Amino acid sequence: MNQRYYSFSQFLKDKFGFKVYKIPIDAGFTCPTRDGTLGYSGCTYCNAQSFSLPTFLAYRQTGRTKTSVYDQIQYGKKLLERKSTKFLAYFQPYTNTYADVKFLKKVYDEALLDPDIVGLCIGTRPDCVPDEVLDLIESYAKKCQVWLEYGLQSIHNKTLLRINRGHNFAQFKDAIKRTRNRNIFICVHIILGLPDETKKDMLETVKTLAKMDIDGIKIHHLQVIKSTNLAKDFEKKEFKTLSIEEYIPLVSDIIELLPPNITIQRLVGEVLEDDMLIAPKWNLTKSEIVSRIEQELTRRNFFQGLKFKNLKNNVLKPKF
Ligand code: SF4
Repeated sequence: MNQRYYSFSQFLKDKFGFKVYKIPIDAGFTCPTRDGTLGYSGCTYCNAQSFSLPTFLAYRQTGRTKTSVYDQIQYGKKLLERKSTKFLAYFQPYTNTYADVKFLKKVYDEALLDPDIVGLCIGTRPDCVPDEVLDLIESYAKKCQVWLEYGLQSIHNKTLLRINRGHNFAQFKDAIKRTRNRNIFICVHIILGLPDETKKDMLETVKTLAKMDIDGIKIHHLQVIKSTNLAKDFEKKEFKTLSIEEYIPLVSDIIELLPPNITIQRLVGEVLEDDMLIAPKWNLTKSEIVSRIEQELTRRNFFQGLKFKNLKNNVLKPKF
C-alpha cells in the first residue's frame, strides 16, 4: 500500500490488474421506509432527488429515467470510456435487494449481458437480505466480483430511531453474519455528524465495524438537504452539522482505527449542489476535501491501521 489508506481504486487494481470504474444504475427499486411497509417518509436525511451522480444527471437529461439496466450501462460506458474498459455495475439508489428474487435475477442478469461488466455492487439495507436473496447474489460470484453495500450509518439504536432507518443494529449484525461466510464482499456505509451523536459515538461505530468481518467502508458526512424531515429538525436548531475543521481530523482518526485490509471506498459524501443543500456549506469540492484529509494524515505521519489493535484480522482474505 503506497497510500496512507487502502483506497478502492487500489483494491480494484490489486484484484484486476487494471483500472475499473463503477457505473451507477437506477433499476427502479423503492425502500420499506418509503412504500408503506415501514413508513412513507424514508430516512430523515434522504431526498431521492439527491441521487444525482454525474452519470444519472446526464442520463436523465436525455429524458430517460427508469429505462433498461443495459441501456444505462451503455450510457455510463460512453461517459467513462476514456478512463477504463471494464466496469462494475453499481445498483445504487434505494434498496436494490427489495423485490422478489425473480425480478432481482432479471436486473442483475441484464447488467452482466455486457461483457465489460466485471462485477456487481448492490446497495441495500440490513433488513432486506433474506437468505434466498443472498443465495442469488452469491451465485454471481462464480463469474464476477460481487459486493453488497449495507447502509448502516451508526451502530447506535437511538440514532437509527432518530433518523428513521427502520432497522436496528441487531438486524445489521444478523445480516453480516449471514453474508460473511459467502463469496460476497461486504461494504458498510456510515454517516458522520448524525443528530445527537458525539465524537465518542462515531468512533464507537468505527471500532465496532473494525472488529467485524467486513471488506470495505464508505464514510459520508451528514448533509441537510431541502425537503427532508432532517431539514425541519435543522431549522428547529435541534442539531448542528460538522464543520470542515471538525471533519478532517475526525476522518483521520477513523482511518487510523480501521484495519489495513478494509478498503475505504469513500472519505466524504457526494457534495451536493448548492440549491439542494442547506448545510454544511464548506465551499470545497469533494477532491479538495479528500486532499485535506490526505494532508492531515501526512502531517500526522499516520497510516490506516496504525491504531487497530486486533491484528489477527490483519490479513487480506482470499475471497475472490
Ligand atoms: S434506505 Fe436509503 S434510499 Fe431508502 S429512504 Fe433510507 S437512505 Fe433513502
